[in-house]
Amino acid sequence: MATYQKILVAVDLSSESDLVLQKAQLIADPNADMHVVYVQEPMDNVYVGIVPQSAAFSGLGDLEAQLSKELKEKLSALGEKFKLPSDHLHILHGSPAHEIHRFAKEFGSQLIVIGTHGQRGLQLLLGSTANSVLHGASCDVLSVRIGATV
Ligand code: AMP
Repeated sequence: MATYQKILVAVDLSSESDLVLQKAQLIADPNADMHVVYVQEPMDNVYVGIVPQSAAFSGLGDLEAQLSKELKEKLSALGEKFKLPSDHLHILHGSPAHEIHRFAKEFGSQLIVIGTHGQRGLQLLLGSTANSVLHGASCDVLSVRIGATV
C-alpha cells in the first residue's frame, strides 16, 4: 500500500502539538509533503453571548493583531523544532473544522492528523474539534489520542 504523500497536521499550539506532529512524522513517507495549520477563531465569535457586545468588542482588533503575532511566532518555533519549511506553516482564520476541511481539499490532502482527548459524557455530546473534522472529511483522518503513551 502506498504511504501518504500529502499530509495536513492540525495543531492547537498547546503542548499537545508536539505529540500530534511526532505521530504524523512517524507515519509519513520521508518525502511526504506535510503542512501544518492552526486556525485562529475571531474573538467576537468566541465571546458572543458571554459579555455585552459594546463593552467587550472595543479594542478587540488590537488584541487580535497582537495575538496573531504571538501565534505566528509559536507556529514558527514549532516548525523549526520539527524541521518544516516556513511555507508549510499556515495560520487560517475562521472555524477550525471548516477551515481544516477547506484547506485539506485545496491542498489535496490524503491524510489529516489531529489530536483527540477521547471525549466522554457531555463533552462527547457537545462534540470536539476532532469529531467535527472527522465528520465531513474527504480524506483519511488520524486522531492521535492525547494522554495515551506513544
Ligand atoms: P480539541 O478537541 O479542541 O481539544 O482539540 C483537539 C485537536 O484538534 C488538537 O490537538 C488539534 O489537533 C485540533 N485543533 C483544536 N483547535 C484547533 C485550532 N484552532 N486549529 C487547528 N487545529 C486545532
